[in-house]
Amino acid sequence: MSKYFNKRTKNLIPYVPGEQPKEGETFIKINTNECPYPPSPRVIDAICQSVNESLRLYPAPDASLARRAFADKYNLSLECVFAGNGSDEVLAFSFLAFFAKDKKVLIPDITYSFYTVYCDLCELECKQIPLKDDFTIDVDAFVREKGNVVIANPNAPTSLALDIGDIERILNAHPDDVVIIDEAYVDFGGESCIGLVNKYDNLLVVQTLSKSRALAGMRVGFACGSKELVDGLNRIKDSFNSYTLDRLAIVAAEAALKDDEYYKSVIDKIVSTRESVKKELMELGFKVLDSRTNFLFISHKTKNAEDIMSYLRSKGVLVRHFKTNRIDNYLRVTIGTDEEMDKFLSLIKDME
Ligand SMILES: *Cc1c(COP(=O)(O)O)cnc(C)c1O
Repeated sequence: MSKYFNKRTKNLIPYVPGEQPKEGETFIKINTNECPYPPSPRVIDAICQSVNESLRLYPAPDASLARRAFADKYNLSLECVFAGNGSDEVLAFSFLAFFAKDKKVLIPDITYSFYTVYCDLCELECKQIPLKDDFTIDVDAFVREKGNVVIANPNAPTSLALDIGDIERILNAHPDDVVIIDEAYVDFGGESCIGLVNKYDNLLVVQTLSKSRALAGMRVGFACGSKELVDGLNRIKDSFNSYTLDRLAIVAAEAALKDDEYYKSVIDKIVSTRESVKKELMELGFKVLDSRTNFLFISHKTKNAEDIMSYLRSKGVLVRHFKTNRIDNYLRVTIGTDEEMDKFLSLIKDME
């Protein structure tokens, strides 16, 4: 470890993203939950229209075109919407803005692994609340425990969703804490709690354009909540980087949020592929959790998950395996195109 690192840097255990193939490598990539279909043609058009001399100028620091489109879509006022460079940044700003040493951060023990990384970065104490044996979130424990709350709903990598009533129970139990609900996958079958934002001052809902809007490469995320919470996020943003969305990201986000018709057909397609792949995997002896996302969380009755992952990789297919307690015999498989999933299934069938 370098002598130049400060204590914080020395103590970090950074997040490890799923493998991105190197230049020239061709894999079927069903390991990082990207969308297998392109963004709306209107998004590409909006980006192309903005590739011009105006790029010499800074973008709008408040990204208001993008925020307005998000606010309109969900019937919110503009001042209740925040935009950032991917929801990862929005989440990091939220931890910085609302959490402190004197209060624990409550998260499920199995969830998006960035949450513990942000806790380390911000030097926060995190309390991991075990999922129940069926991998659902233990709502009673979240109601009982004291602290700020971060929950992905639907949860990753389990793919399971909570209903709004459960989120409301948690909100009511934590009136003096901030409750962050990360809805990265909500468009694939979860129930959004954005409708509760006007009712609960302590609720912050985070969404991303990376999954259901096919824009992982553009880096756009949103948060919505009370004006109070959004003000807090702006204080952090303007103490860190005033221009979190670039000119192309702002117009791409606006166009994506205004083309629900295109994205509805993409989402319907992914959900229908998911259900047919699920059925086939169950016939092949896999346990498959009830996914409300664009991925399946699966475990085979007899075959070892890490062996399946290595075998698939040797045949040019990337899936995600986590060497984490309780889930090390599971794989997370992103839903790709029908052709990609047929290839995946035929490899599984051929496996000795
Ligand atoms: C993918 C993902 C994110 C990150 O999304 P970006 O907007 O691409 O940064 C956040 N939370 C969860 C649960 C995710 O799966």
